[in-house]
Amino acid sequence: MSLSSVTSTKCPDDFMVSKLLGEDEDSTVVLAQDISTGKQYAIKILDQEKLAHEDKLSQVQKEQHVISRLKHPFFVKLHYTFEDEKRLYFVLSYAKNGELLSYIEANTSLPLECARFYAAELVLALEYLHRLRIIHRDLKPENILLTDDMHIQITDFGTAKLPNDHRSDLKRTTSFVGTAEYVPPELLTTKRSCISGNMSITALIISDLWALGCIIYQMLSGKTPFHDDSEYYVFQKIVSRDFRCPVNMDTDAQDLIGKLLVVDPDGRLGSAGLGGFDKLKSHPFF
Ligand code: ATP
Repeated sequence: MSLSSVTSTKCPDDFMVSKLLGEDEDSTVVLAQDISTGKQYAIKILDQEKLAHEDKLSQVQKEQHVISRLKHPFFVKLHYTFEDEKRLYFVLSYAKNGELLSYIEANTSLPLECARFYAAELVLALEYLHRLRIIHRDLKPENILLTDDMHIQITDFGTAKLPNDHRSDLKRTTSFVGTAEYVPPELLTTKRSCISGNMSITALIISDLWALGCIIYQMLSGKTPFHDDSEYYVFQKIVSRDFRCPVNMDTDAQDLIGKLLVVDPDGRLGSAGLGGFDKLKSHPFF
């Protein structure tokens, strides 16, 4: 595989691995130190043969392409990429404090000021992303990492969509993209042809705002707004907008969540027709 967009002067021997951060069927992420500078990085390592066998090379290339375009503090930064005969290596900024999800779970919810702070950082991050016409499509607390000074760094662009990129979904026409509890209703109800590329980028961009509404709800209540034991019932709840905010939730937060979790994408706060991100940022919750 050719990692064309980033050339690197580094190789695996330039780093000393100190611990495993996580692994799944596709990749291993390790904490490593650049031997020459002492700087810490998270290195994502992928098995080339496995990727080729499972036909996932193009997805990885796209993820690398998206991350290398992002130059904003609220996104994980890709510092180097290199490969050897067996593996691909993505050297990423290390988000020392791990996933936002673990802070929500450890405290069963976040204090209001804290949720407001992370909601505001998420809005700024999405505004930047959407200016580049990139849609994340899998925004959730597991993919929001925290740096050593507790700012967000959004990661996992494996299912992101770029303008004029119809490739990514061609093999996905029978399923949605993203994670069940955060997926917007339009991606569950729109016909297959739309999911595979005909849906306009403007319409798709608004889908990240639905996920934002879900995350704000989750930060304040500890639960996702549409949860159930079975994915089928999660989807039923999403398309019928079957959720209720806890009565003790801050009323401005309830109002904001209600304006983000709107079934019609064009009726969602932050959509271009409703004043875009400026309108969203001036909501009383912030
Ligand atoms: P995917 O949904 O793509 O399979 P994942 O949720 O399994 O992703 P990975 O991206 O494979 O996560 O990362 C594995 C683990 O390493 C996760 O726990 C993640 O939080 C952690 N991790 C990934 N990137 C970083 C980073 N830049 N800094 C710190 N931790 C990271």
